[in-house]
Formats: sequence, structure tokens, C-alpha cells
Amino acid sequence: MIYDASLLPLPARVRADLCVVGSGPGGATAAAVAAEAGLDVVLLEAGPLVTPGQMTQREEEMLPLLYWHAGGRTTSDRAVRVHQGRGVGGSSLHNINLCKRIPAEVREGWRRDRGLERLDSATWDSLYDEVEALLGVGPVPEGLRSRHNRLLERGCQALGWEGGWLSHNRDGCVGSGFCEIGCAYDAKNNALKVMIPRLVRAGGRVITRCQAVRVVHRGGRAVGVEAVALPAGPGEPLGRVTIEAGQVCLSASATGTPALLLRSRVPDPGGETGRGLRVHPGIAAAGEFEEPVRAWEGIPQSYECTRWLGFAPGAPHRSWILPAFGHPMGLATMIPGHGAFHRQVMAGYAHLAAFSTMLHDHTAGTVRPDGDLDVSIGYRPDEADRRELAFGLAACARLLLAAGARRVMVPTTPPTVLLPGDDPGVIAEADHGPGGLDLTAVHPMSSVPMGDDPRTAAVDSAGRHHHLPGLWIADASLFPTSIGVPPQVSVYAMGFHVGRALVAEAGRRGS
Ligand SMILES: Cc1cc2nc3c(=O)[nH]c(=O)nc-3n(C[C@H](O)[C@H](O)[C@H](O)COP(=O)(O)OP(=O)(O)OC[C@H]3O[C@@H](n4cnc5c(N)ncnc54)[C@H](O)[C@@H]3O)c2cc1C
Ligand code: SF4
Repeated sequence: MIYDASLLPLPARVRADLCVVGSGPGGATAAAVAAEAGLDVVLLEAGPLVTPGQMTQREEEMLPLLYWHAGGRTTSDRAVRVHQGRGVGGSSLHNINLCKRIPAEVREGWRRDRGLERLDSATWDSLYDEVEALLGVGPVPEGLRSRHNRLLERGCQALGWEGGWLSHNRDGCVGSGFCEIGCAYDAKNNALKVMIPRLVRAGGRVITRCQAVRVVHRGGRAVGVEAVALPAGPGEPLGRVTIEAGQVCLSASATGTPALLLRSRVPDPGGETGRGLRVHPGIAAAGEFEEPVRAWEGIPQSYECTRWLGFAPGAPHRSWILPAFGHPMGLATMIPGHGAFHRQVMAGYAHLAAFSTMLHDHTAGTVRPDGDLDVSIGYRPDEADRRELAFGLAACARLLLAAGARRVMVPTTPPTVLLPGDDPGVIAEADHGPGGLDLTAVHPMSSVPMGDDPRTAAVDSAGRHHHLPGLWIADASLFPTSIGVPPQVSVYAMGFHVGRALVAEAGRRGS
């Protein structure tokens, strides 16, 4: 059953074997695995249930419905926009469905530095096989490759840079282009479509508009969750929801999970909780073409340029290049400048393309609770990461010019405008300063990094909290470093992995 906390008699008290917090790929999967194994599961989700029939394809309506802070969440200094989903299915509801496995070099580094006894390469491979079959992952078909994406292919071919068509998890996609504001055609094989029905069929309960505030622990064990019911619109919490549960699994994302741990004063002698945050910061350059591009049409991202993306320790470059999302509000935020210049560029909207660079970042940010209901994110790219971002941005400009752009707008401070024949190298060479690049991030991770040594790590490689029995983590927080690729399939993999470890332990305890 799916319940709406705003309609429950309050205060409410609920008993379960397992309480999972957060219904994204990590939480929905761990919850379904546990329910199918016979545990009585309750899954709390701060956001609402939004079904495909409610996806109106309007940015101004869907951003407030599907995103934290209506899409306006930022780092505490407002320097980086951090887009995160809020609703049943988490960010999988409105992500762009790209699917890539974590490269072997990254996973080997984790084994070397963090142990990860329970996650050898055979385990990862079998988890990925399972997740990819479940989500129907396959290459984006020829007929769904948009003009915008073909321009990036053209740029790569002109420069002789490596690139290729990506794999995705869509079924019945009509290429409407609205992925980032939810799919009205139910073509995304997301957590709402793939995992929540399994959970509910197995008897699991989902409570929407129910935000966990803290983990309750007594006698050195997690024993439940204190939560609040939220109103359907803006406003103060309506009342308290108390969950009593023998096991608690936090899957509230790489920002929500560490905030809950810290607010609940869960012991962490190594002090890693809420540190180590990576976000894959990104920035886009826009190009104006003679021919119409109509960047809003078709699957937003399906071609990648991998020429400058390295994973080995000390790799010279760490930049992943893709077309950016092309809807009016989204694209307008990528065009630098304002006033008459901005207006004139946007008047040629149909002729604009935007390529973005996303960084496999080394900078470690922080997450802290902000009161009972919010998070405070600290993230300022260090000098090496800023240099690499500038390098990637210059590469985007180079690709746009190579694809035939007649003018390229680069969001430096002040904006840079390049014409054919200009050298984008000036962007890479400039010192943009700590806040000088206008960054957006959609992949928070690594804020409760798993590791087998309890002196440093808070969580082991099965997702079990080292210092509070009965507590588990199953979301993107677990990755020890940036993964450099889109995270969703790896987060589903963690959902299966942690869900199964939790079931085995619950069986041993007889709960
Ligand atoms: C615009 C965008 C595009 C993306 N594109 C891709 C892509 O193409 N491919 C890819 O692999 N990845 C993509 N991602 C990233 C991917 O969707 C995430 O990495 C993934 O969803 C993370 O899963 P998660 O379970 O860790 O957290 P989330 O999906 O963020 O789910 C966490 C859930 O917990 C809920 N929650 C938080 N705090 C609480 C609380 N206190 N109480 C109750 N509930 C709470 C949230 O509301 C949310 O629903 C994209 C993300 C965005 C934002
Ligand atoms: S492009 Fe495909 S998956 Fe994306 S919103 Fe349109 S139909 Fe849905």
C-alpha cells in the first residue's frame, strides 16, 4: 500500500521489521529485496507520489513537484546548483537514463585503499548483470538519436576525438525530450516503475510526504525513526510519525543520509560522515548554428565524448563531455550574461546547442544538517579541479566550433564569446578563481564512504554501520570516491547488495 502522511491521523505510530528512508534507486531496491524475503517493510519518502499522468511537461510546474527546493538547491555559498529529486523514485524519476558501470580502475583503487571485502569484482559484475537486465539497459537506438547529439558526434569526428553512443534504460520512448521534468509516457524504467511495485506486491508499505528527522537509537542499537508528516503544499510539518523497527536503512541520498546520521548523533569515531562529498560538477558552453538545432527535441543526452576522461591514478584529464538539456529555462541559465545580449541569444533558441563538461572530481565537500528538515552543502572545487573544469569547458567550445557553430558563448566571468578561428585555449589557461565558474551538479555521492576498517569508515562494504548495530546505508553516499560515470546502475546495485546483507542479518537475529 502507498499512504500519504498528510492524510494520516497524527501523531502516528508504525511498527515494522525494517524502516527504509528514501525511495530512490538505493532505498526502493533495498526495501523491495527485504519485503520479498519476508520482512515487514515500511519505506518513508519526503516527497509525493507523482505518476506519469501528472507529468505536465511544463518546467515551472514539474521542477517544484519533482526537485528539492524546486530545483534551486545550492551549496551554502550558492556557488554550485545541486539538483536532486524528491518524490517516490527519487532522482530516477527525472534523470536522463544514462547507464554506465563504474570503471575497473576506480573499483580497484577502492579495494586497495578501503578493503571492501564484500565487493570484489565478480560481485560487482553479477550485480550489474542483474540491474541491467532489470532496467532493460541497451544502446540508444539509431532512430532516437537527436540532432543535438549528432552535432556532438560531428564535433568529435571533426577533431578526431573519441566518442560514442550511450546505453540507457528506456522502454517505449517516443523521444519527447522531457526526461528531466518527468516522463508522461512512462517510458523510463525507473525505481517507481521497476522497484516500488515489487515492494508493494510483497506487502511493503510506502509513506509519502513523510520526512525522517532522526534515527532513534537505544542501548547501542538503532530502534526506529522519528519523522514528520508534510503538507501537500508549502508549510510547516503537520505532526509526528514514529516508526519502531528492528532495522533501519538510510537511502536519503548523499546529502540526506549524512545529514540524518549527524543530526541523530550516530557514533562515528573516524569522523568521515558528511565529509568526502563528490558531486561531478559540470558547466556548459552554448553554440549558435546556422541550421536549426531544436535541442529540446529527442533524448537529451545520448552521445558522449570520452577523449578527455581518464580514470587511472594520475590520469592527465578527467572531463566527460555530453550535450546539455535544452529546455527554455534550463538553456537560459547556461547562456552567460544578461540584458540585451542574453535576450538576443535566447531569441535564436531554436539554433542553439549546448555541450557540457562533467568532472570526475577529487575535491571533497561536506554535508551538515540544517535544522531538522534541510541540509547544508559545502563544496568549492580545489585548484586542480578548477583547472580541469576550465580545460573541459574549453574542450566543449572547441567541439561546438568544430561542429560548425557560428558563435560560442562561454559562461566565464565576464562571459567569453568565441567566433570561428578563435582559440578556446584562452578559457583553459585563465585563472577563474574559486567562484568564477557557474557550476551545476546532479550526481552527489561519497558522503558516507564505505570501508572495512572501523577506525576510519563509518560503514562496511555490506552497507552495515560499523558503530550502530541495526543501521544500514544503501545509496550513493557509499562510494568511497567519485565514480566518474552516471551513478544510477551502481546505486541500484548497492540497493540489492545491502538489501541482501540486511535480510541475512535479520534472519540471524530472527527479526
Ligand atoms: C537531473 C538529473 C539527471 C540525472 N541523470 C542521470 C543519468 O542519466 N544517469 C545516471 O546514472 N544518473 C543520473 N542522475 C543521478 C541519479 O539519478 C542519482 O545518482 C540516483 O538517483 C541516486 O540514488 P539515491 O538512491 O542515492 O538517491 P535519490 O535518487 O536522490 O533518492 C533519495 C530519496 O530520498 C528522499 N529523502 C531525502 N531525505 C529524506 C528524509 N529525511 N526522509 C524521507 N525521504 C528523504 C528524497 O526525497 C529522494 O526521493 C541524474 C540526477 C539528476 C538530478
Ligand atoms: S525522451 Fe523518452 S524517456 Fe524522455 S521523457 Fe520523452 S518519452 Fe520519456
